[in-house]
Amino acid sequence: MKSRFQVVMKSILAASAFALVAGVSATNEIHADNVKNDTYKRIMKTDRMNWGVKGDTKLMGLMNIKTGKLEGFDVEMAKEITKRVNPDAKVVYTQITSGTRVPMLINGNIDAIIATMSVTPDRQKVVDFSQPYFNAGQSILVKKSSKYHNVKELNTPKARVLAVQGSTSIDEIKEFAPKAKVVGLQDYATALTALKAGQGDALTTDNGILYGMAAGSKSLEVRGGTFTKEPYGVAMQKQNPKLVKAVDKAIDDIKQDGTYEKMAKKWFGDVKGMDWKELAGE
Ligand code: GLU
Repeated sequence: MKSRFQVVMKSILAASAFALVAGVSATNEIHADNVKNDTYKRIMKTDRMNWGVKGDTKLMGLMNIKTGKLEGFDVEMAKEITKRVNPDAKVVYTQITSGTRVPMLINGNIDAIIATMSVTPDRQKVVDFSQPYFNAGQSILVKKSSKYHNVKELNTPKARVLAVQGSTSIDEIKEFAPKAKVVGLQDYATALTALKAGQGDALTTDNGILYGMAAGSKSLEVRGGTFTKEPYGVAMQKQNPKLVKAVDKAIDDIKQDGTYEKMAKKWFGDVKGMDWKELAGE
């Protein structure tokens, strides 16, 4: 006869397997009732809001090694949103990458992600998003001496394209340049170093991120315009409708009271080639 333990284990494994096949996080499914609005309640009770932000993306989320502080548009948005969700709350930042952000949110290491993250139907199966707060689009960054001018020209087995794991960019480039050799790297700092070292012909991700990279280098430029739409949203664990509502309201307020325009001008106003009004949806 099977022990109770074996029977229980078998049904837990079956439930997890089902959840995985269905493309849903097992954690989310099983605890759906218990976690309702938990994140929101905790932010209000502990007066802390834990944000996952980028640390390697100039203009959006970058660790400034001189000050030891994270800075950028997303980082400031996190601060402004927190102020409006719970004015007493302390803002806590955790650095994430495109590949680690969703697992860290699902595991409860962070309360929300604000990190150049596009709202997509696939991601909406696993997390909830706020309203979009920024309109980016995918493009390419190359050396000024490069013979490649746009994504179409990269559609050859001769082209090596660098992208970051866990980003939409890596899937999109496989669609738009299916013949190219795509190399998936850990984060944008690594990808930029690889491009500069000549280990790839182009780096592909959102135009805003690429403009940040080009701004720091005389030999690189963004080319060919955008070929996708990447609306950025704040990602939160499912089953937290109160938090989503509070974040949406905060974004409305930030836009209406002039804070948004001030921040967009501060971070993007002087960036060569960047039309910040279009990106900000002004
Ligand atoms: N916006 C794209 C994404 O959400 C690319 C930028 C990133 O890697 O964060 O994946």
